[in-house]
Parts: sequence; structure tokens; C-alpha cells
Amino acid sequence: MNNAGKGANDREDAVGKCNICNDVYTSTNVEVADGIVIYVCAHCLEKAKDNFIWLCMSCGKAYLRPKKLVINRVKDRELKKAYMLCEDMQVIQGIEMCISCSPEKMLDYMEEQHVAMEC
Ligand SMILES: [Zn+2]
Ligand SMILES: [Zn+2]
Repeated sequence: MNNAGKGANDREDAVGKCNICNDVYTSTNVEVADGIVIYVCAHCLEKAKDNFIWLCMSCGKAYLRPKKLVINRVKDRELKKAYMLCEDMQVIQGIEMCISCSPEKMLDYMEEQHVAMEC
């Protein structure tokens, strides 16, 4: 990215590297969990319209899943409803661990996560 260096001269306080793509500096930040704020560039924010984005808090890896796919896979009716409410929102959520940190726990964790999801 060519513009990345330029902005550094402006010395804005709240500028950081996008936590999702790790490629672009941005001043846009999003709270992904209680008290945890991450930087998200415009491009990734755009992606969040069509994808649910999970960001692993332990290794920093970001996961994108197409919303349609996630919603189609959900069998539970209540859960489906909750997800469908989120369909038009930009959802980026921090998770404590991801599939590469803890492959076995990952599925359980995502199941629990639904309950906590507020839209
Ligand atoms: Zn980005
Ligand atoms: Zn991880």
C-alpha cells in the first residue's frame, strides 16, 4: 500500500493498522468486545456488510464468513432469527480463541457466542 507511509506525518493519535487485513492504516475503530477496540479500514468495514468477521484475540487472526452461508447453516430457529437481524449490520466480533489456537473448542465457542450476540 503506497499511502500507508504518508499519513504517519499527520501524527493523529488514533491511527492504527487495520486488525483485519493488517495492511492499511486507519483511524476507524470498532469495539469488538467489552473494552476491546480494534482498527478496521474502510475496505474491511465494507466487507463486514456481507460477512461476519471474527477476530481472534489470542493470535490476531481474522476470519470472514459470508453471512448467507452462516445463516443457511444454522438449524436453530431462534439463532437463525438473531443472525438474520444482523444481516444488514456490520458485525465484527472478538473471540478468545480461533480454530488454529484451539480447533476442538472452536465450535463450542461459536455456539455459545450466539447467545451473547447483541444486534
Ligand atoms: Zn483492513
Ligand atoms: Zn487464534
